[in-house]
Amino acid sequence: MKRAFICLIFFIGVFALGSFWSGNYKKQVRQEQQKLISEIVNIQISNIEQRLSRSLSTTDMLAIEVQQNQGQINDFEIFAQSVIDSIGGVSNLQLAPNGVIEQIHPITGNEQAIGHNILLDDKRKKEAWLAIERKQLTLAGPFKLVQGGVAIIGRKPVFIQHNGNPRFWGFVSALIFLDDLLAVTDLKQLEEKGYSYRLTRAHPDKQRTDIITQSSKKLGNSPQKAEIKVPNGIWYLEMSHEMPSSLYGLLGYLASFIIALLASWQLWSMMNYSQHLERVVKKKTLELEELAFNDHLTGLANRRSLTERLKQVLWEAKRYQRTAVLMYLDLDDFKRINDSMGHDAGDTLLKQIAARLRGAVRESDLVVRLGGDEFAVLLLNEDSINNAAKIAKKLIQKIEQPVRIAGRGFTITSSIGITLVPNDGNDVPTLLGNADLAMYAAKKAGKRNFHFFDQAMQQKAVEKHQLEADLAEAVINNQLELHYQPLIDLQTRQVSTYEALVRWNHPTRGFLPPDQFIGLAEESGKIVDLGYWVIREVCQQISLRTQQHLKCKAIAVNLSPKQFVDPNLLENIKTIVREADIDARMLEVEITESTLMDNVDNAIQIMEALRAMGIRIAIDDFGTGYSSLAVIKRFPVDKLKIDRSFVAKLDKDRSDQKIVRAIIAMAHTLQIEVVAEGIETEQQYELLKHAKCDIGQGYLFAKPKPIDQAFISEAHLTRA
Ligand code: C2E
Ligand code: CA
Ligand code: CA
Repeated sequence: MKRAFICLIFFIGVFALGSFWSGNYKKQVRQEQQKLISEIVNIQISNIEQRLSRSLSTTDMLAIEVQQNQGQINDFEIFAQSVIDSIGGVSNLQLAPNGVIEQIHPITGNEQAIGHNILLDDKRKKEAWLAIERKQLTLAGPFKLVQGGVAIIGRKPVFIQHNGNPRFWGFVSALIFLDDLLAVTDLKQLEEKGYSYRLTRAHPDKQRTDIITQSSKKLGNSPQKAEIKVPNGIWYLEMSHEMPSSLYGLLGYLASFIIALLASWQLWSMMNYSQHLERVVKKKTLELEELAFNDHLTGLANRRSLTERLKQVLWEAKRYQRTAVLMYLDLDDFKRINDSMGHDAGDTLLKQIAARLRGAVRESDLVVRLGGDEFAVLLLNEDSINNAAKIAKKLIQKIEQPVRIAGRGFTITSSIGITLVPNDGNDVPTLLGNADLAMYAAKKAGKRNFHFFDQAMQQKAVEKHQLEADLAEAVINNQLELHYQPLIDLQTRQVSTYEALVRWNHPTRGFLPPDQFIGLAEESGKIVDLGYWVIREVCQQISLRTQQHLKCKAIAVNLSPKQFVDPNLLENIKTIVREADIDARMLEVEITESTLMDNVDNAIQIMEALRAMGIRIAIDDFGTGYSSLAVIKRFPVDKLKIDRSFVAKLDKDRSDQKIVRAIIAMAHTLQIEVVAEGIETEQQYELLKHAKCDIGQGYLFAKPKPIDQAFISEAHLTRA
């Protein structure tokens, strides 16, 4: 619309300019022409005037002759002929004494006029009398002659002296055929050339103009006009020329029109082309934006898109008090499916879940794939916690509907963290971080669950973050310390071995137990360094005790899952053992059941290598994982440590008693020593001893203690 308007304006502009120019040109041409016509008119006029005065001079000659002969001209014919011959331009000369035409020369064709009384003729008398009155030559006519043709007559009143007074004698007249008069002009030729003319005279008595002669074509607009002075009156010659320029001008306008049209069309197509370009650029930009703002696997919006939208939502929240709900959704154990079924199956699953999520919320809500198995849902204009909880529940249910991929059916669950916008954050990173924290809390609470964000979570997160930073320096700054807890032979109540348990002497928070930082060290990878520090410390302790000939079968260290898969594990331990110069059989490693189950074959290899070095191996926290006793058979282990949770309920729970007995029996058939963790009561001790459990560990015997106290209590134990 706008383009059309611009083109129209442009068209009008060009056309107006062209028209103005051609109009101007036309005007110039016209002016030139008028000048030319004016000149032509002047030439014609002077021709007519000359001719007329010459012709009329014949009347003077005739008048003088009459006066000299006192009114009598004897040889009128001869005289008249000689005058006509010498002057020319006169058709005939007449004598009309007392106004009555008496003689005409040449007479031929004029016979009828003889005897005509001019002074009585209605049409002529007025002029005739005027001539007498003024005693002047008068030009009369044009008349249609009785004998045919049109003529003008110069009529001169003649006065003869009589008794000293002039007395009117009559008229001498010269008749001039109009055609003859005009023959001296170029009017005929000019007419042929397209000029129009009109010769008029102001009638002496009436206020009217007589047309003397005119061109067959009518006079045009604004003709050039000039006067011809004739005796006793004025004639006018007007002339015009049919403007070829009228067509000429039209052509000018036409040309302007066409040029304006062409130029406008050119402009139009140029604008269209630029618009076309604009469209192409827009389309490409849109495609790029699509790529930039969408997840290519699921077609959902991506993280960037969520970020942009959240910014807008936060702005609207500030301005219009609008609210929204942001959900952070993570699939539980997706890695398991991806690993066992392959990435294609994983992708198919993600696509199906994307579609389910999309179908579960309103069209206006934003469903996002953040990456991997993480999704987000942004519920717009939602502020009800109840609704949010309902929707979260619905999403969890939708996701856990069975899926069939490649002929196999399975289910996957999800955990959701929920934040309220803007309550739970005033900027995008905070909101996303808090939703993530809430999701993490849902996972911790057992997965397949949702959790709202709360401030305590964030406080914890901040602390965790700080702790993580501090942990990086803990090893370097010697803030770690080992406590030792003895493992007791249940039959003899003698110390069998020790377990080294790490503590962190935090500069501001004081002594921290491992459950406050081991998980963090695990997440951040710091556990590897920490773990080697522990092994080094323990090996030095063994070396010291050996040198001091103190009694100690072995000291155990805990190996974290990350450490266990460290490719340098064997090499590093070998080096540490060699440097400490100890008998490797005095070093024991405790590996949790779940660590082993992650990759059974690999675990077996590493365990065999460790055993080959002489290092003893214990399976820690047994009973908490999913391993069956059959699998345990394959592991080269020396010890099985029954998890504290079984021991704790031992006095009350008879089924736990059965399980513990079964574990002990099975372990013994495999020649594996059995340890019971967390013995706190004599009753537990008795039950375990009775069940033939080999070794016990627990507060009943000793708590983990720093190096300087741990071995004193050993003496105490020995005494006991
Ligand atoms: P764990 O390997 O199962 O260690 C035994 C834990 O049980 C110790 O907790 C010990 O203090 C506690 N315990 C022993 N007897 C009793 C009892 O009678 N009652 C109760 N309630 N608890 C008892 P601690 O020292 O807090 O260690 C916790 C966990 O931290 C350990 O569990 C172990 O998994 C991890 N850990 C400790 N030190 C290290 C280490 O150097 N490296 C690695 N990777 N993990 C460590
Ligand atoms: Ca342990
Ligand atoms: Ca344990």
